[in-house]
Amino acid sequence: MPYVQISPVFRPELTDSAESRWQALGDARPDLRPALALQRQLLSRIVELAAVLGAGRLPRLSLPPKYLAVKLSRGVPALAGEPIPLPLPALKPTLVQLCDGLAAGGAGEAAQHIKEAIVSGAIDAGSLLASSLHREQAAIRTGAMHRGLSPDLLWLVAELAVSPFVHALQQLLLGAAAAPELRAALDAWSHGYCPACGSWPAVAEVVGGHRTLRCSFCATAWELATYACIYCGESGEKFVTAAPDEERKDRRVEICSACGGYLKTIDLPELSPFPLLSISDIETTDLDVAAMEHGYARPALKELTKKG
Ligand SMILES: [Zn+2]
Ligand SMILES: [Zn+2]
Repeated sequence: MPYVQISPVFRPELTDSAESRWQALGDARPDLRPALALQRQLLSRIVELAAVLGAGRLPRLSLPPKYLAVKLSRGVPALAGEPIPLPLPALKPTLVQLCDGLAAGGAGEAAQHIKEAIVSGAIDAGSLLASSLHREQAAIRTGAMHRGLSPDLLWLVAELAVSPFVHALQQLLLGAAAAPELRAALDAWSHGYCPACGSWPAVAEVVGGHRTLRCSFCATAWELATYACIYCGESGEKFVTAAPDEERKDRRVEICSACGGYLKTIDLPELSPFPLLSISDIETTDLDVAAMEHGYARPALKELTKKG
């Protein structure tokens, strides 16, 4: 069953669960507290936006199950290349608030400049968010540089603001209500990138021995039939799983010397609901550091083919 359904969790349970994880993380890593305060604040904006989107109506998309199934069978993520109307009245205020949060939380003027560009219309929020949805990293970076804005920060803020919408879309299209032919195509998905949006996973969450990849953007959960490098498919001796901390075997990195990629892998009692997956990512930043110190990196986003 490679595509894994995660039942949505709503506030206040979501907030409680997030709070206890932030608390535990702050206790374990007091040095990270300022960074955690910012992450916590950004996450609460996303939880709010997800609630707003959950209460409204998502756009009707003409993406028939058979069409999506064929697309997936060609290795093309469901949303890739599709024109998707964005609920801008809900997304744009969050985009601006996230800039404010980042500006107050350490990104300072760089975030302030992005906010000004969005508010003044120098950057069109609709095209920015659509580019993010379609994972057009080069276009966003170029646009930022032309306007003297931080490319990394612009990418981040757009990604954060549109992620609840993309998560909702993937639930709508691929979730419990997906038609059998689409379900079969999802279950046959054998790639390391997300079947919904094409991003690489942020982490693999392992629950009961099942290694479930979790999309860094839309939180889709999927399991692969093979235990191999998710980036290049290497399964021989160049692919190694290691625990940097001998006493924490529940926290590992999969490293691949064939392609130089790494993936963080953590044991958890249950899969994190959206958007708490970002906490799993933050809880494991020491694993990123360990992998990067040894010369491993997360590869760039995969170039997505337009329609399948
Ligand atoms: Zn995704
Ligand atoms: Zn590899």
